[in-house]
Amino acid sequence: MRAIRRFTVRPVLPDALAALGELASNLRWSWHPPTQDLFAAVDPELWRSTGHDPVRLLGEVPGERWRQLAADESFVRRVGEARADLTAYLSEDRWYQRARDERPDLTWPRSVAYFSPEFGITAVLPQYSGGLGILAGDHLKTASDLGVPIVGVGLLYRHGYFKQALSHEGWQLESYPVLDPDGLPLSQLLESDGTRATISIRMPDGPDLLARIWVAAVGRVPLLLLDTDVEGNPDHYIEITDRLYGGNTEHRLRQELLLGVGGVRALRAFSRITGAAAPEVFHTNEGHAGFLGIERIRELTADPSGPQLDVATALEVGRASTVFTTHTPVPAGIDRFPCTLVEQYFGDRGATPGVPVDEVLRLGTEDYAGGDPGVFNMAVMGFRLAQRANGVSQLHGQVSRGMFNGLWPAFDEAEVPITSITNGVHAPTWVAREVIAMASRQGADPEDDDTEAFWAALEKVPAAEVWSTKRLLRERLVEDARRRVRKCWEKRGATAGELGWIDEALDPDVLTIGFARRVPSYKRLTLMLRDPERLKALLLHPERPVQLVIAGKAHPADDGGKRLIQELVRFADAEDVRHRIVFLPNYDIGLALPLYPGCDVWLNNPLRPYEACGTSGMKAALNGGLNLSILDGWWDEWYEPEFGWPIPSADGLEDYSDKRDDLEAAALYDLIEQEVAPRFYDRDADGVPLRWVEMLRHTWSSLGPKVLATRMVRDYVGQLYAPAAHNTRALGADAAGARGLAGWKARVRAGWPSVRVEHVEAEGVGDAAEVGAVMTVRAYVALGELSPGDVAVQLVHGRVDAEDVIVESRLTPLDLAESYDGGRHRFDGQVELGRSGPFGYTVRVVPTHPLLVAPAELGVVASA
Ligand SMILES: *Cc1c(COP(=O)(O)O)cnc(C)c1O
Repeated sequence: MRAIRRFTVRPVLPDALAALGELASNLRWSWHPPTQDLFAAVDPELWRSTGHDPVRLLGEVPGERWRQLAADESFVRRVGEARADLTAYLSEDRWYQRARDERPDLTWPRSVAYFSPEFGITAVLPQYSGGLGILAGDHLKTASDLGVPIVGVGLLYRHGYFKQALSHEGWQLESYPVLDPDGLPLSQLLESDGTRATISIRMPDGPDLLARIWVAAVGRVPLLLLDTDVEGNPDHYIEITDRLYGGNTEHRLRQELLLGVGGVRALRAFSRITGAAAPEVFHTNEGHAGFLGIERIRELTADPSGPQLDVATALEVGRASTVFTTHTPVPAGIDRFPCTLVEQYFGDRGATPGVPVDEVLRLGTEDYAGGDPGVFNMAVMGFRLAQRANGVSQLHGQVSRGMFNGLWPAFDEAEVPITSITNGVHAPTWVAREVIAMASRQGADPEDDDTEAFWAALEKVPAAEVWSTKRLLRERLVEDARRRVRKCWEKRGATAGELGWIDEALDPDVLTIGFARRVPSYKRLTLMLRDPERLKALLLHPERPVQLVIAGKAHPADDGGKRLIQELVRFADAEDVRHRIVFLPNYDIGLALPLYPGCDVWLNNPLRPYEACGTSGMKAALNGGLNLSILDGWWDEWYEPEFGWPIPSADGLEDYSDKRDDLEAAALYDLIEQEVAPRFYDRDADGVPLRWVEMLRHTWSSLGPKVLATRMVRDYVGQLYAPAAHNTRALGADAAGARGLAGWKARVRAGWPSVRVEHVEAEGVGDAAEVGAVMTVRAYVALGELSPGDVAVQLVHGRVDAEDVIVESRLTPLDLAESYDGGRHRFDGQVELGRSGPFGYTVRVVPTHPLLVAPAELGVVASA
């Protein structure tokens, strides 16, 4: 019988153990093994059966057990110690506070808001689908560890993403269990009088949309999650936060409206109620939250209690304080809406009253060559609303500059103002405690796991110890995989009698290759099946067998992806190979945690360059895994022969062509057969593969420190957050600076048609210059109404190709030498010819202002 209503009864803990409730309600436990051990000690069996979920555990422990524990002095003491440790963690100075004291010359933001449509923090808060969410989770946890004052903003989806199972035929089945927020590690944001805090948004087709705000404590970082499941909302509003990445275009737009506009309002409510500092920097993790910029313009222009700026000035304030991270070079990964839909939601009865809808449309419309002027593009809006933007690896930065060059058509790709910060992973979450323990035995302090010294300590671990640890981790994975395969087959309709083989599935001594990720086509789940006979031969090799552990979810609407999964599952079902290749359903954090440490090799074969970064290979590397991967994303940047193997990619060939897949698959088989397996099975007298272990140790010591999320978050603080806060403050609390900047931009744009390089003279070099010669350049420039201080005049020089295009160009500033009547000026400078070969130069003029980040920002240039 179905219940008409449901709610969760919160447990009452004995007073002596009340601190367990506090420990369960801060997610720091999810990356703190001592706290996990404490929960396990409450009831080991329940800890396991609840899937390591402290809130459920505390709710299910029987009263008798509580009485027993409350009387156990040593347990009560342990609880007290754990709570003291958490209190210290939450209050003491950490990296950010120390760095701020050391560098008072930098602008350290008082608070940063981090918006993301998904957050992958722990398996018990399933609000993520894949890499984007895991990255957001790692970002918040790391910010907490470093003491960076961040507030996360997202949505609470009643069904999260989906749970994946398989049909008898190997077809992906999705289910959407209801998550009861009362049973999750969340608290509701309440007003000081105890009533529920809500935000509201005006909607075009009905009453105002209401949302309540849940707060997850991610260590020191509050994460605000908006939820439309509140009384007063009609059903079609309640559905807005039903599931992650579900529904049609309009559903997506409503979710993003809630995330962006509602998210800013939730932050304001949070600050008002708790006294938390107002964010000085707004970081949007991918374009989905971009409407936050529109809401901030509304606050600054139309809100009666705001400063009532004009739109141009408000835009400068918004841009200076916004950081946009783009995450994908795959066009389908970018949200695009019909302009008419955006018009509806931001029009007369729209979400941000007072902001003219034309201004909104102008920000996101694809009104450039190659774009579709009827389409509103969230990435485009992201770039226009953020003064600082980045990709997530060097290669992805470069690809993004090419992809979005159309927004800055007057500039070469290299000058498109998109930088990069390569992703990283949160070691305390992802590194097996056995690996940490090995480093500790060499004298490294686990508290310092973000230092080079910590990872260098693993260089000294004896080979036999490394090897026995890896054996243990592999064995744990094998056991976990068998449990999962058995459950999966039971659901697929097999009887117990048919499943005896599972006890022998996988082998803790066989070379284990892992492959797990979402299943969009560019990730090529089934590349390994290109030549099934060759794969079989590798799996069943008499001396050097290989085993494969595979996982991944296809988006529910992606039948192509589901067909790939089915193809793989069918291959893995065959009796002759099923002990060497398994597909584990429902890839999530719970599955990932034992998977990475248990693998010897992490396989990644995306279609280059569509993998913006990838992080799973980093997690494998930190756990003593070697990467076998196409040179894409982070691997392109940091690959070294000691870290694994690059799979050659046939870049010149067309994407998704048979030829390309054939070539790359053949290269993959060759590598496994001729390099990977021989090295893994090359053993000394004690059965240890010395050369292999040497590679693991190098990976830890040299690659380890680079792939850490602490490196990533420090980079964000130093390269993006602090400079953004600096510019924001420079615009002035009263926006005087912003008015100045907006006025300056308007003046420069208006005057630009008169800017010309009229004439260039060069001296010191003839047609046959020698290396070391110095060239003196004089450029005569007309600036019209603009003054020399408004512009930078630059000599652009470098090697030229056969078409006289300057490649690898360099810039040398020319200085004002003389001014003449009629707005004409001479700029001089010198350059030394540093290398032989064809050389070319030109002169250009670009706008310059102390508060610009890049010369391309206004999009205008004048060249000789
Ligand atoms: C790390 C991780 C991902 C992302 O991996 P990629 O290499 O970026 O594809 C996705 N899902 C889970 C559960 C993860 O742990």
